[in-house]
Amino acid sequence: MDGRSIGDAMARAGHEQVVFVADRASELRAVIAIHSTALGPSLGGIRFWRYPSEADAVRDVLALSEAMTYKAAVAELHQGGGKAVVMVDDPDAPRSEALLRALGRAIDELGGRYIAAEDVGATTRDMDVIAEETPWVTGVAEERGGSGDPSPVTAVGVLHAMHAVCDEVFGDPSLRRRRVVVQGAGHVGAHLVALLRDSHADVAVADVNTSRASAVADEHGAEVVEHEHVLEQECDVLAPCALGGVTSLETVPRLRCRAIVGAANNQLTDPSVAGALAARGIVYAPDFVVNAGGIINIAEEFTGYSRERALKRAAAIGETTARVLRVARERGVTPEDAALELARGRLRTEAVPGGHWRPGDPAAWTDGQPLRTLRPGHP
Ligand code: NAD
Repeated sequence: MDGRSIGDAMARAGHEQVVFVADRASELRAVIAIHSTALGPSLGGIRFWRYPSEADAVRDVLALSEAMTYKAAVAELHQGGGKAVVMVDDPDAPRSEALLRALGRAIDELGGRYIAAEDVGATTRDMDVIAEETPWVTGVAEERGGSGDPSPVTAVGVLHAMHAVCDEVFGDPSLRRRRVVVQGAGHVGAHLVALLRDSHADVAVADVNTSRASAVADEHGAEVVEHEHVLEQECDVLAPCALGGVTSLETVPRLRCRAIVGAANNQLTDPSVAGALAARGIVYAPDFVVNAGGIINIAEEFTGYSRERALKRAAAIGETTARVLRVARERGVTPEDAALELARGRLRTEAVPGGHWRPGDPAAWTDGQPLRTLRPGHP
């Protein structure tokens, strides 16, 4: 923890609670972090990952849960930020039912202060098993009232953010003939390529899995570019839709795009990169603003899922992005700082009584009744 205690790290970033979970029988080792419940129960995915050390897992869960707070706040959702990490040897290996049930019981004991979802390494089946132990889990199968794959909704949000950015940069929101380079032809990337082609953009796509890139490009009439050179591609918009950390002080000088708008989480290696991008005149739309479609989709699950409503709400990411860019321009700050200020403003002015949501409190969507379950009408 960089020489600091976990408590100090929590206090510095304002985390409310960190729970260590161990289950001898199933060998579960997990950490659940609740950064903030000021706007409602915290929500965030469960990440199954091979961490070099426990300190790395704690560092990751603290940073990820904090980012979830800002993502929900900017998206105008009534929920806070949380995350869970499970330390595993092989993130791709199927998890035992015993391990998932033990995790589900630990989540249940938090009484709804942490609501789980899928993240890296997690599957709908994992969520279904966890749901056997607790109601506080989303992303369960659609037949159980779940919201299904969030990727199409996330891609719609990214597209609307891109329109807003084009309006800011080129004075025209249209994507017609704009060259957009999409890094990652996975769940979100593939949907985004399709939407961009429908918007008549010239699209290039890159993936470390070259056959995946080719398949997506062939299906939608896009070009394939080598994944090693994706950052040096001359383009109007670069759309990182693979892993985080693509934009660093080392990579910024190599970029040849006018703007960055993508789904990947944690695109900047550290906050100073936002300043380096601004200095090069590259407009960076903050990832936690752009990729909120996933949690917007989940939030619909709380009241009875409707994909149509989720898609409509994801479209509002365009207006939020435009607002962030306008505030950044007017105040002479980076869009990253403008978005963080927007989030912190909501946390200050719209916090629940007492500042922390507790089990049994109503949620924004329960008409003053205690929150007892998600997905009304479904067991
Ligand atoms: P995914 O695993 O389906 O796709 C990622 C793709 O990126 C894979 O095809 C992988 O081969 C490729 N890739 C990995 N490293 C690469 C590299 N260096 N260059 C090019 N390609 C590379 O993941 P996804 O669900 O599409 O999510 C993409 C990103 O968006 C992730 O960072 C995720 O955290 C974030 N995100 C996703 C959602 C969602 O709804 N799925 C929501 C919010 C944020």
